[in-house]
Amino acid sequence: MPAYKLIIDGKKVSTTETFPVLNPATEKVVAQAPKATVEQLNEAVAAARRAFPAWSATPDAERSRLVHAIADTLEAHGEELTKLLTLEQGKPGVGFAGMGGAFEIGGTLAWAHATADLELPVEVIQDNDEARIEVHRKPLGVIGSITPWNFPLMIAIWHVMPALRSGNTVVIKPSEFTPLTTLRAVELMNELLPPGVLNIVTGDGSLGAAMSSHPDINKIVFTGSTATGKKIMQSAAGNLKRITLELGGNDAAIVLPDTDVAAAAPKIFATALFNNGQTCAALKRLYVHEDIYDEMCNALAAIAGSVKTGDGSVEGIDFGPIQNKTQFEKVCAIASEAKTSGARFLTGGEPVKGAGYFFPVTIVADIADDTRLVAEEPFGPILPVLKFSDVEDALRRANDSNNGLGGSVWSADVARATALASRLECGTAWVNGHAMIQPNMPFGGVKESGMGVEFGRYGLEEYTTIQSLYIAKG
Ligand code: NAD
Repeated sequence: MPAYKLIIDGKKVSTTETFPVLNPATEKVVAQAPKATVEQLNEAVAAARRAFPAWSATPDAERSRLVHAIADTLEAHGEELTKLLTLEQGKPGVGFAGMGGAFEIGGTLAWAHATADLELPVEVIQDNDEARIEVHRKPLGVIGSITPWNFPLMIAIWHVMPALRSGNTVVIKPSEFTPLTTLRAVELMNELLPPGVLNIVTGDGSLGAAMSSHPDINKIVFTGSTATGKKIMQSAAGNLKRITLELGGNDAAIVLPDTDVAAAAPKIFATALFNNGQTCAALKRLYVHEDIYDEMCNALAAIAGSVKTGDGSVEGIDFGPIQNKTQFEKVCAIASEAKTSGARFLTGGEPVKGAGYFFPVTIVADIADDTRLVAEEPFGPILPVLKFSDVEDALRRANDSNNGLGGSVWSADVARATALASRLECGTAWVNGHAMIQPNMPFGGVKESGMGVEFGRYGLEEYTTIQSLYIAKG
């Protein structure tokens, strides 16, 4: 088994303790990851602090060049990183509709290059006989990045690249379930970056908690569950850390009666099941008009019946296992409660027996709004399909959630769908699509789905603070 190490101040650092990393397809230990102590976290933060003056003063063009170079290095190691992703996360390399591990690596590169090309120019808001007033964007200092297990590498890149691009230094802590890909990627990035600019510590939630209360970290960027996001917000208050929180979602989609079911069903299926349903902005509640309800249920069930769930390292597998035991047991419990409630299971519904956290693609019809499957984010391969007759009622049910990450409306009448989509209470609303994100479009949640946005200029600005510069004249 390869020996993984922390990276602090550009150097590999061993720990006295380690923790096991499992392959969720086999439940076998595939590596031991280093378990960082709080003292090692302190060293990482101190190294990032020491590196900050020189890195923040590095010319913008040079930082842009280095972020592009990082993307090139990750691309050169794409195959190795894709295999590591499958090993620890479970997702197949290719997967359903080509949206597996290689797709995650592709997204990683696209976001890194796009972030490298972003600019935050000085804004002149007044220049007259009285004064010239400029608005400057300055880096915050040391950024703490805490990431989840569903897209370990892509989300790390979403955090780290804008932080570095805007002149901050970073300490990253990946999920304890999927630390390996990030450890390797940070090692590769450190071959290009000055020491201390990007450090990695690995461990469980207690290490994340030590980061969010750390007096010398200036901002936490966190992607993960709403429950953890709330804890981070509380402990960040100690030194008034800036925070960006990308949290859970329970995205609703409303399908109007004029929708072409044959054309829409494959798209709906793909976006609901993306990454085996373990995607923050996946479509998680599908409200379908009664006129096309049966047709949509049948179309989705037919696709679900044609896909293969299994070990992601085997060729031809569409969906891998659920990533970890806790999440697997949650999906099993949610399915079992839906069954007890009398909902109609069109496919799946029972975990696969044997080793590995396998749950087949499950489509559930005729289910009540107050079941856990509808009211909570299941974060697994299970989709509830709900019937509506009145569109205002569908909108009310869609908005009746503490979450507000994404939402969508599907219809042949784009103007009508757009008007309805703009009334969804969520950070991103789509028309005739769902979960379509891109590096130049701000992405974030409202309500309990988060705070702040990522991506593009808006996302980059969140890694900076404003300095107004007033130059008196005359
Ligand atoms: P999680 O909150 O359990 O863990 C995420 C990270 O937080 C891990 O690194 C973990 O070690 C750390 N952590 C745990 N307790 C902590 C604490 N008290 N203080 C600081 N850090 C702590 O989430 P998860 O189970 O890894 O991820 C699944 C959740 O993430 C889902 O709800 C999903 O919707 C959400 N998610 C959101 C987005 C988004 O962009 N909105 C993207 C992906 C996942």
